[in-house]
Amino acid sequence: AAPLLEVEGLKTHFPIRDGLFGQISGQVRAVDGVSFRIRRGTSFGLVGESGSGKSTLGRTVLGLYEPTAGTVRFNGRDIRAGGRKGLAALRPKMQLVFQDPYGSLNPRVRVGDAIGEALLAHGLVRKAELRDAVLEVMRICGLAPYQFARYPHEFSGGQRQRIGIARALALKPELIVADEPVSALDVSIQAQIINLFSDLKEQQGVTFLFISHDLAVVEHLCDEIAVMYLGLIVETAGRDALFDRPRHPYTQALLSAIPVADPDARRDRIVLQGELPSPAAPPAGCRFHTRCPLAIDRCRAEVPVLRTLADGHQAACHLA
Ligand code: SF4
Ligand code: MG
Repeated sequence: AAPLLEVEGLKTHFPIRDGLFGQISGQVRAVDGVSFRIRRGTSFGLVGESGSGKSTLGRTVLGLYEPTAGTVRFNGRDIRAGGRKGLAALRPKMQLVFQDPYGSLNPRVRVGDAIGEALLAHGLVRKAELRDAVLEVMRICGLAPYQFARYPHEFSGGQRQRIGIARALALKPELIVADEPVSALDVSIQAQIINLFSDLKEQQGVTFLFISHDLAVVEHLCDEIAVMYLGLIVETAGRDALFDRPRHPYTQALLSAIPVADPDARRDRIVLQGELPSPAAPPAGCRFHTRCPLAIDRCRAEVPVLRTLADGHQAACHLA
């Protein structure tokens, strides 16, 4: 099947100014040349530390940021080809779910109305059918009918995330970009929300770009995973290949930080040294060389390209 989303050579840079109105003195290279595709009905995980550019990438994919270079194709069409009007028409089809849905819910609007608002605004249902449409999407998201008339503060964190998801789902999106959607929740609640995403994928055919700093969170949901470091994808593979045979030292370090129940399966812990360098001044050569336990002289001088190893598994490392 043709991919739903194709991202090609995408760069999103932000100017740095000296003071609010000063001269441009540099560029934050938040996303610095990224390509990937997501097949329809699958879930693609984007993982990396905070500051790696994941959220900027997610928002550029949705057309919320204008890319510095590269293209985003949705259903085979450049999302910017139709100008602002074209982007607005795409809006319901590509929805964002974020970490803290509470921040976007009006405390004085009942939850059912908050979900219904967007439906009416986009002209997706007639007023007479609105209540049923909202109740149906609430049901799919695990919310009970009596909760229609409740206010946001009456809900727990996990339920608020269900509301956030219901609002997005009400528009019948083909793609949902979920940016750290479970990071603010307790681990037990995280599993329930991840199961909901999994149901939406299986039963509603929704395609996901799922962003998380936590590899453990994407393991159960995502069919393919890309690991990002300082604006670049450093490794990408199917879920099993990535977890069983990680090829990039950064992925290996992230994986070694996940606690495992079986002591025989325990990996040697790789502790990353130092902080993430600034995306305004990424290190020369391999951007990971300042923290890589395996770095050799070549890594400081030569940029490793993302090479295909086997079965579509790709890694950008001189030693992979
Ligand atoms: Fe480490 Fe060198 Fe590989 Fe970069 S290219 S990940 S510094 S070994
Ligand atoms: Mg982020």
